Amino acid sequence: MSKKNLFGLTLSELETELSDLPKFRAKQIAAWIYQRGAESFDEMTDLSKNLREKLSEKYFVQTARLVTQLDSSDGLTTKFLLAFSDGAAVETVLMRHDYGNSVCISTQVGCAMGCKFCASTLKGLERDLKPAEMLGEIIFVNNFLLKQNQKVDNLVIMGTGEPLMNFDNLIKFLRLLHENYTLGMSYRKITVSTCGIVPAIKKLIAEKIPVTLSISLHAPNNKLRSAIMPINSAFSIEQVIKAGDEYAEETGRRVTYEYTLLGGVNDTEEHARQLSKILSGKSANVNLIPVNPVDERNFQRPTNNSVKKFFHFLNTHGINAVIRKEFGTEINAACGQLRNKNFSID
Ligand code: SF4
Repeated sequence: MSKKNLFGLTLSELETELSDLPKFRAKQIAAWIYQRGAESFDEMTDLSKNLREKLSEKYFVQTARLVTQLDSSDGLTTKFLLAFSDGAAVETVLMRHDYGNSVCISTQVGCAMGCKFCASTLKGLERDLKPAEMLGEIIFVNNFLLKQNQKVDNLVIMGTGEPLMNFDNLIKFLRLLHENYTLGMSYRKITVSTCGIVPAIKKLIAEKIPVTLSISLHAPNNKLRSAIMPINSAFSIEQVIKAGDEYAEETGRRVTYEYTLLGGVNDTEEHARQLSKILSGKSANVNLIPVNPVDERNFQRPTNNSVKKFFHFLNTHGINAVIRKEFGTEINAACGQLRNKNFSID
């Protein structure tokens, strides 16, 4: 008989699975799996030896399997390649900010969206991740941090994949992560990124979970946006920003617009003027991200001067903008650099 992985089950699923044990055991085991970093029954020291042996005959506990780990030389970023039971693997990134530890997780193996500046989509979409697999990414990193007496403080869902194209699994995962028997993570500490799937933004509003929504805009007009983001031919800038406005109004959360600066493509003063016009008066922040190099893509990094000028223009024209602090560029762990398979293709 093949063994079953208990990781990823909800408390009530665990209670059902372990129904021949007293109910409190499921809670105790959930705490070990989700909060106390146990990756085997042997570590669950408040269970009798006999019970641990019985459990390990039928079950195992696995978040995700570490394939490779890369650390940046400044020690601030760690990139993990994590594999799941079918061998599919994704990258998960830990960023040690001065305000806490953030984890960036992937939601799909590969991505179908085809954004022109992004490495994650080079091989298309392989498959969606399941809720337990997304939870596995963050708990894997939390377990890694527990060994250093630290924990995950914030979650950004900006890794490989378009989260809102894996909507039902994403919502199940977010609700599981919010449960007090897992990490009990506040929705306010979670950012969900999207390239602008308008109907799914509306579905997210209806879920009433006040995560921060981060919309990848990357261009201030439809012609340019369609040239670098194929999704724009389905949902125009106007439709995406309208959905962002609805999100801000319904949730009370300020929407973040991501704008990757591509040297000579979207980084001129005229582009800044157009951007400030379309976001004028909105409850929004703009994150400016100087493009990160991807071998197969031909985009140039903008000059420091053009980044500063763009930033200055927005902030002096009523738009709240920041230049995103760079993490992990040297280990290809920065925005747009994540891939699905392995590090050797970098
Ligand atoms: S930027 Fe996001 S949505 Fe676009 S291709 Fe990359 S992973 Fe997919």
